[in-house]
Amino acid sequence: MNKRRALIIGGSLGGLFSAHLLRAVGWDVVVFEQESGDLAGRGAGIGTHDALHQVMARIGVPIEQAMSVVTRSYTCLDPAGNVFRELPLRRTMSAWACFYRPLKDSLPAECCQFGMRLTRVEPDRGGVAAIFADGSRIRADVLIGADGHRSTVRTQFLPEIKPAYAGYVAWRAIVPEDRLRRETRELLIERYVFCLAEGQLALAYPVPKNQVDHRPGGYGLNVVWYRTTDMEALNRLCTDSQGRQHLGSIPPPLIRPEVVAQAKEAASELLAPQIAEIVVQSEQLFFQPIYDLESPRLVFANTVLLGDAAFIARPHVGAGVTKAALDAVCLADAIAANECDLNAALARYDRERQTFGRWVVNRGRRLGACLELGGAPQTFARDERQRAERVMREHIATTVDIHNLTVGIAEKSAP
Ligand SMILES: Cc1cc2nc3c(=O)[nH]c(=O)nc-3n(C[C@H](O)[C@H](O)[C@H](O)COP(=O)(O)OP(=O)(O)OC[C@H]3O[C@@H](n4cnc5c(N)ncnc54)[C@H](O)[C@@H]3O)c2cc1C
Repeated sequence: MNKRRALIIGGSLGGLFSAHLLRAVGWDVVVFEQESGDLAGRGAGIGTHDALHQVMARIGVPIEQAMSVVTRSYTCLDPAGNVFRELPLRRTMSAWACFYRPLKDSLPAECCQFGMRLTRVEPDRGGVAAIFADGSRIRADVLIGADGHRSTVRTQFLPEIKPAYAGYVAWRAIVPEDRLRRETRELLIERYVFCLAEGQLALAYPVPKNQVDHRPGGYGLNVVWYRTTDMEALNRLCTDSQGRQHLGSIPPPLIRPEVVAQAKEAASELLAPQIAEIVVQSEQLFFQPIYDLESPRLVFANTVLLGDAAFIARPHVGAGVTKAALDAVCLADAIAANECDLNAALARYDRERQTFGRWVVNRGRRLGACLELGGAPQTFARDERQRAERVMREHIATTVDIHNLTVGIAEKSAP
């Protein structure tokens, strides 16, 4: 029998997880990525879960110890940089590129085509055809839209569903530890740090330094700094130096230098000095607007939505990569369990992944609400300390819930 074939749109983590797991159940796959080069330079630190490591082990590219850093507590700083609360929690932090690179490098080169932008999908002889910007048309049994939050695939099938801007952005910075002061390194190593100030939240945690260049040793310090930013301000932030306004987000290299300089200045004024230092020292400070998105359906005949194309949860949940990995596990397992009935397999995928997708989106909204990012600036009074404690406990509860909801899924369902 001829192998069945899947076209995967999007060569980021969701697409790469799908490619590996479908190959493992005997499918032919081709990944089409619109960008023309390697994506490893993008992305920053991520929090991992046991389920994510299980998926990597199942694929056969386990994450080496050198690609993760363990934190042992959640710690709150006041704006002066003093620790005022610490709760024990073990987490394994890593970096986007630590997953991207081994997943991509271990796929045969013929499975990945770069510089291929999908423009639309059409039904084709009981299967599906992808039509690309260069005019080419490719047919397969299934098409997987792993094309992220502005998904072309989702827009075609669910034009009314659009990412809803949450009213704030996350600034992201990463700096090798050896470029930071000793006090900063000593405070931040092995800690997941929270700093609330004037209606904002900054998080700092260590990540492997070798995330981009793979040189062994050392670690980097990563900051995610949430700041309330209204739509008008977001549009200004998304305008490049040629005056061109980018829709909804802007590629990091196009962020104007004066925008970066203003953010660094604000960090120095508002954040604990250790966190501000990372923001100021960062060579590529960039921001990501925060969106919510829920798709009411994930399957349209032979076309499937996966990863951020299907659901976008706010990054407070810290589960976007784990969710994309488990979406891919579910799809491959459903297909393997229903070899003769593709419709039944895809219906199972739709049903099972809606449940987790809705849960993470709702939890992200709840965490966003408890941060009160839209609130008026406040001084760091006693009630601020209580708010900080509440925020930290909600984050811990979310991490524990995700562990309980996901652990063992990838293992149990291994073929
Ligand atoms: C601030 C922030 C912090 C985060 N922190 C974490 C964290 O700690 N832990 C975690 O698990 N997750 C985190 N995430 C989320 C995580 O990065 C994503 O959820 C995850 O990478 C899954 O993405 P994806 O592959 O589905 O989509 P994406 O990574 O968005 O990839 C989509 C790909 O499709 C390509 N593409 C788009 N359109 C087309 C087209 N028409 N044709 C061909 N290719 C196309 C794009 O170029 C892109 O490469 C965070 C996100 C943000 C914004």
